[in-house]
Amino acid sequence: MRYEELKGNLTLCSGTRKGSADTCRGTLHRCGNCGTEGCKQSHADSCSNQAFNVLGHCLKCQATNRMETLAPGDYTPQQAWLAGTDSSSTH
Ligand SMILES: [Zn+2]
Ligand SMILES: [Zn+2]
Repeated sequence: MRYEELKGNLTLCSGTRKGSADTCRGTLHRCGNCGTEGCKQSHADSCSNQAFNVLGHCLKCQATNRMETLAPGDYTPQQAWLAGTDSSSTH
């Protein structure tokens, strides 16, 4: 019951990207050590909901190798969206 809601709502990061004010829409991960959920970014402090650095280290408890992807099969809409914007800009 609750799991369904989580599955539907927590697929993409709803944090705000620093510098652009856009919604992040990154894939969410959860720390198996402290339970923190958030996205992974290549640069520190890139998103208001960032939880992991580029190496997958938890920013809250510093745990390494504890990152779990919440929705591993849900990249498709994001990929399609990215591909769409890409091809439309290439006139
Ligand atoms: Zn953690
Ligand atoms: Zn994010």
